[in-house]
Amino acid sequence: MSAVSETTIKGGAWLIEEADAAAVMTPEKRTEEHVLIGQSAAEFIDGEVLPVAARLEQKDWALNRELVKKCGALGLLGTNIPETYGGVDLDKISTLIVSEQVSRYASFGATFGAQANLTILPIFMFGTEAQKRKYLPPLIAGDLVGAYCLSESGSGSDALGAKARAMKQADGSFVLSGEKMWITNGGFADLFIVFAKVDGEQFTAFIVEKAWPGVSTGKEEHKMGLHGSSTTPVILQDVKVPADAVLGEVGKGHKVAFNVLNFGRFKLGAMASGGAKAALGEAAKYAAARKQFGVAIATFGAIKHKLGEMTAREYGLESMMYRTAGLIDAHIAAAPDTKADDAAPMLKALEEFAVEASIAKVLGSEVVDYIIDENVQIHGGNGFVKDYPAEGHYRDSRVNRIFEGTNEINRLLIPGMLMKKALKGELALIPAAKQLQDEIMSPSMSLPDDTEGVLVDERRACGAFKKVVLMVAGTAMQVYGQKVEQEQEVLTYLADLVTDAYTAESAVLRAIDATNRKVQDASLHVDAASVFTHEAAGRVELNARAALAAMADGDVLRTQLAALRRLLKVTPANTVAMRRRLADATVGKGGYLFA
Ligand SMILES: Cc1cc2nc3c(=O)[nH]c(=O)nc-3n(C[C@H](O)[C@H](O)[C@H](O)COP(=O)(O)OP(=O)(O)OC[C@H]3O[C@@H](n4cnc5c(N)ncnc54)[C@H](O)[C@@H]3O)c2cc1C
Repeated sequence: MSAVSETTIKGGAWLIEEADAAAVMTPEKRTEEHVLIGQSAAEFIDGEVLPVAARLEQKDWALNRELVKKCGALGLLGTNIPETYGGVDLDKISTLIVSEQVSRYASFGATFGAQANLTILPIFMFGTEAQKRKYLPPLIAGDLVGAYCLSESGSGSDALGAKARAMKQADGSFVLSGEKMWITNGGFADLFIVFAKVDGEQFTAFIVEKAWPGVSTGKEEHKMGLHGSSTTPVILQDVKVPADAVLGEVGKGHKVAFNVLNFGRFKLGAMASGGAKAALGEAAKYAAARKQFGVAIATFGAIKHKLGEMTAREYGLESMMYRTAGLIDAHIAAAPDTKADDAAPMLKALEEFAVEASIAKVLGSEVVDYIIDENVQIHGGNGFVKDYPAEGHYRDSRVNRIFEGTNEINRLLIPGMLMKKALKGELALIPAAKQLQDEIMSPSMSLPDDTEGVLVDERRACGAFKKVVLMVAGTAMQVYGQKVEQEQEVLTYLADLVTDAYTAESAVLRAIDATNRKVQDASLHVDAASVFTHEAAGRVELNARAALAAMADGDVLRTQLAALRRLLKVTPANTVAMRRRLADATVGKGGYLFA
């Protein structure tokens, strides 16, 4: 691996390059502007949303609309949109910070996401100038509410299998018919981004106004959670749609759908991170207050283990999110001269980091589920009743693994997209895997030897995780060739390997940087990164062994397993003591320790 700083601003490049801790974006490097937008969003959620959550749970959609409007007035809906269209044009780190805050009430997070990510963004990225000028200012102000209609009862993951039709008329207009399913904001939206097939074939996106004859919505779904968010079918019965309502190009609806999902997935990671921190705060406070056997339950090792592990996993997620946001921002900033209103640099950056966005989605939704589950457990019986918020978070969080592409689909996309980049020559994975294979065959295979500074073993482990990814990916490409996409189990193992490699490295680089910059509680950063990495080492070994055993046997497998053992020779660390320190500090603070 070449020792270059994080200057190769390419998706997946981290896998074959060594990053410089100082170059990686972390929460500790937030600017004053970032802090201010975060405060503004936090005050809005604490002051305006959380106090009325019970009314929202009763489906008071007029109130929900009012809150969307207040959000608009604060500039929170247009963080990614240029001022020309009513936005405030901030960077992706600001978007991440706002998303973390709004998701502290998950139902409002869903309402917000459908507006900001799923309606405003596609119009900005694919709309004509006239569409942008007409729709973006009222959407960003919250005067209009939007919804995104991709799924149908028969086509969720297989979104391109939609049955909705758009029959082209002689005057260039279209007549839309079909039924969309599970549409967030359906019950009170004014505007829908609808996907339908022109003449039954060309998958296309349209902007459809609720007021147009033939548009209606069905009954609210009876959901497990997110009761404060509207989810309905959207029915299109011979809706006459003008020619200029096409969003993007006829037959290019997949571009709209997939690019919107790329950013949606990144933002879902951010929302999950915000929800996870909120639950961790509840768990810490409850553990400090609840007494059993005459002492606070926070003093028990078993509870400390939970709080320490929750902190370490959130630290990994948060580090990965900020690193990715920094990379996306850097990619946009490096775009050659473009007009300020041009969406192309953002679109390109989101495409470039689609792998990382899928990692954010999968990791975020699983970290938040883990933390929310442990929050219920720490609350004991009180975690199972509605008097405490832990129960509601548990129900609200579950859908994160289902929408914005299920975690199964995203797991397939992670290695799938990396391999495609490799085959197109956009990422030098194949030569790196080949070089590694030669090393593996040599009994004197050298390991990265970095012995200075903090987290030496962990940094070495991160280098090894990346090599394990190359080893498994290289083997899969060699064994299966073009048919690799049919090998879902191996791809799923690979996705988890890639996720652990990226996340552990992001956490370790952040902790090293925090130490170098002497930030407050730097030693706790080191503990969190170390716990994450040591846990990841166990997962990496299991996933790699299972994947390799599916692809080889006999002497080849034995050689590979021997190489794996040599690579993953991670000296165990006292993670019990580290988790205890993290837990005690979390309880002392009454919430998540870091950002
Ligand atoms: C609360 C809520 C809000 C939503 N909001 C919106 C919205 O605003 N707009 C919108 O368009 N949609 C929305 N959805 C729909 C959501 O995006 C879909 O439910 C999701 O994409 C999954 O599709 P599905 O339900 O048809 O499941 P299916 O696609 O039927 O999947 C069922 C299972 O099979 C697995 N599976 C499917 N295909 C494959 C494959 N090729 N390989 C391996 N496994 C596979 C899945 O991972 C899953 O585990 C929402 C859903 C919910 C519950």
